This record gives sequence, C-alpha cells and structure tokens, in this order.
Amino acid sequence: MKIGLYYKEKNKENALFLKEQLEKNGFTLDNVNPDVIFSIGGDGTFLQAVHAYINKLDSIKFIGINYGSLGFFCGYTKEDIPELIKELKGELFVKQYSLLKGEIKYQNSEQDIYALNEIRIENPFHTLISDVFIDDEKLETFRGNGLMVCSSLGSSAYNKSLGGSLIDSDLNVLELTEIAGLDNNIFHSLKSSLVVNGNKKISFKGDLSSIVVGYDNLSMQKEDNLLEVTISISDKKVNIVYSKNNSYIKKIRKSFVL
Ligand code: NAP
Ligand code: MN
Repeated sequence: MKIGLYYKEKNKENALFLKEQLEKNGFTLDNVNPDVIFSIGGDGTFLQAVHAYINKLDSIKFIGINYGSLGFFCGYTKEDIPELIKELKGELFVKQYSLLKGEIKYQNSEQDIYALNEIRIENPFHTLISDVFIDDEKLETFRGNGLMVCSSLGSSAYNKSLGGSLIDSDLNVLELTEIAGLDNNIFHSLKSSLVVNGNKKISFKGDLSSIVVGYDNLSMQKEDNLLEVTISISDKKVNIVYSKNNSYIKKIRKSFVL
C-alpha cells in the first residue's frame, strides 16, 4: 500500500510525525500514485487534497486527520494514529460520496468543474439576475447576490451559514440555497432552500457576466459571455475512510450543538 501525505505548511510538523509512524510500520510513501492520502489539517485542507487528485479519485482512499477547527470530513485525530495504522493493515471502513458537477456553457465552448461541498455563482458588483431551472422547468427569476447548490455532505458548510438545512450525508440529493435574495413589493424569490432528487439538474441562465463561480475552496471570475451553469451529481466519487463508530448525527451534535 502506497501512502501520500497532503498538508499545508502550518501542519508540516504534524505531517512529519505521521510520516515517521508510517515508515516505522513499513509503509511506502508515494504522493504521485498513492492508494491512500492522509489529509493533515481541517476541512479546507481535505477539500484541497481531493481537488489535487481529482483525476485519480477512483483509486484513492482519503483519510482526514483533524488538525483544523471543525474537521467535518476528518474521521480521526492525532490520538487515533496508532489504532489507525493497525486498521491500515486490515480492512478500512470506506464511505463513497458523489461529487457535484458544474457544466459552464459559453457562446462557443464548455467547461466542467467538480466540487465536494458546493458550487455557487455570485455577483459581488451588481444584483445578479438569473433564471433558475429544475431540469427543464423554470422555478423563478432570482435577483440577489448569488445562488448556491450543495451536496448533502456540503450542507453543513457554506449552506448552513446561509440558513439552508443540514441533510443526512447518506442522501443523494441536491440543495439549492439563495445568497441574499431580494425581497420587496416588486421582486420576490423562493426564500427557502429547495432539496431535489439527485437525478435532477439545477440550471442558472441569464446575464451571467462578471460573476464569480465558486466551487469548494476554488473560484474563478468570469468576464465574458457565460450563458448557463448547470449543476448535477457527477459520476466522480470520493472514497473517505472513517472509523467504524462514525455517525453523522454524532458529528452534527459535536460540531454545532455541544
Ligand atoms: P475554510 O476556512 O477552510 O472553511 C470555512 C469553514 O467551513 C471552516 O471552519 C471549515 O472547517 C468548514 N467546512 C468546510 N467544509 C465543511 C463541511 N462539509 N461541513 C462543515 N464544515 C465545513 O475555507 P476554504 O479552505 O476556502 O474552504 C472552502 C469551504 O468553505 C467552502 O466549500 C464553503 O463551504 C466554506 N465557506 C463557508 C462560508 C461561510 O460559512 N460563510 C463562506 C465561504 C466558504 P475547518 O475549520 O475544519 O477547515
Ligand atoms: Mn480551514
């Protein structure tokens, strides 16, 4: 089994500690073609690790060791390392989650992006005006700062700050949540989050010039003829290793209630 380590500079010491433990136990380190990636940090680091290996996700299992604040993706802490190394030699408990796919359509071309948490369009300069479609049916013309679609796994991130619902991470659905929708006597939008079946597509169409397209920790600013952004559940899946007593409700309780 080949193991790769992914971390930000501030966690270098912690990464070196893990590296020593792994080498002592006979594991080979390989960041190019790893079977397992250890993400050493918080959720931000974990998201970056997934994007760094976005074209090799099928063959990699991700293990998050939490040195961040929340560590929603991270099933382990430093104290778990000895036990985890034993588990590495046996069978790992893996959960598979689908990534979101964003198809960005321009006048003459198309671009695909992927995300674990969410894909969002935001206009930091002017009111964003966008039609919202669920499959081919129009839901509304939205006016406001932006629109976001998250996965169930991403529902506890930006979506939660926007007032969206938490979704059991085992559900294969999409959640649409507004970012500061206008609400007055003339313009209205849905206002609540909308959860739809994961076999549907959510599209934003309209004058999408000078918007920022954000996806997880990444973003790009679009100046030119962007016509449409369509978000769906992709074929790409990420394999995340958890300890056997992992539970979504426990995680929510620990992160947001206690
Ligand atoms: P970051 O500062 O690492 O992430 C922001 C916060 O979100 C951190 O506390 C992070 O936990 C937490 N987080 C990330 N994914 C989560 C998940 N699935 N469930 C619960 N909490 C989660 O920032 P970043 O590196 O740019 O990461 C990008 C993510 O930040 C985006 O995908 C977006 O969801 C989130 N974000 C949130 C807001 C907001 O809430 N207003 C605004 C922008 C972006 P750790 O402390 O463990 O890293
Ligand atoms: Mn972070």
